[in-house]
Amino acid sequence: MDSFREKLKDKKKIIVKIGSSSLTHPETGNLNLSKMEKLVRVLCDLKNSGKDVILVSSGAIAVGKKSLELAERPKSLAQKQACAAVGQGFLIMTYQKIFAEYNQRIAQILITKYTMINEVSRVNAENTFDELLGMGVIPVVNENDTISTDEIQFGDNDKLSAIVAALIGADLLILLSDIDGMYTDDPNTNPDAKFIDLVTNIDENLVSMGKGSSASNVGTGGMSAKIMAARIATKAGADMVIANGNDVGNILRIVNGENVGTLFTQHKMSDFDIIRALK
Ligand code: GLU
Repeated sequence: MDSFREKLKDKKKIIVKIGSSSLTHPETGNLNLSKMEKLVRVLCDLKNSGKDVILVSSGAIAVGKKSLELAERPKSLAQKQACAAVGQGFLIMTYQKIFAEYNQRIAQILITKYTMINEVSRVNAENTFDELLGMGVIPVVNENDTISTDEIQFGDNDKLSAIVAALIGADLLILLSDIDGMYTDDPNTNPDAKFIDLVTNIDENLVSMGKGSSASNVGTGGMSAKIMAARIATKAGADMVIANGNDVGNILRIVNGENVGTLFTQHKMSDFDIIRALK
């Protein structure tokens, strides 16, 4: 086990982000309840082992679309917001029900970019997260899609989860995706694409490898969004792993230091490093 992976065993504050495509059945768009149950069980187990756990879950628009029986993915902002308003309630109700089976309390936190830009609301959000984690609650976070407009939209939960990681000082962010991690090219179109298991430096070459290569048409975040998220999270001092959400057992494997997914190592400058750099 390499030392970067070994360090993941000591992580204390862990954010897991799951996307709409991992939460729904591709054939029907309905929620994949067995997947959700497994995810919740793993998160409760992680919590039982003494970690602080935060879930960032997409799915509001996808679930709302299904519930409203819309044939296509909604296009206009108002349509998406209407779907999110219907879907978010259903989504959190489902989570609440499953988490309750393990006697685990959860809290719904909906944020917008404005929450982060405005200092008062940013500090409020940070305090609320701290308080909830202190109370042993698992926050379930999503963008407040119903009031986000184009100008203040995060747009994808990859970026949102990285910003939450920075806000609350998380030390590990796990992005569950519909592929195993990052490749040198899109593996759906290029059979020679190679898997990248460790990234210690996010350079322009890596960014250009990212492209928009998510295979799904359910969620919004492609590989470029994930690299952008990695930039934010690693600068803020959190390691980040992109892994396949088809097997939620990957979460425990990652936290056990196993070589799963693509690991982006954090490179926050410690006070010591800053002083050394100044000399
Ligand atoms: N906030 C959106 C939703 O819950 C998801 C954004 C994303 O796909 O990352 O539907």
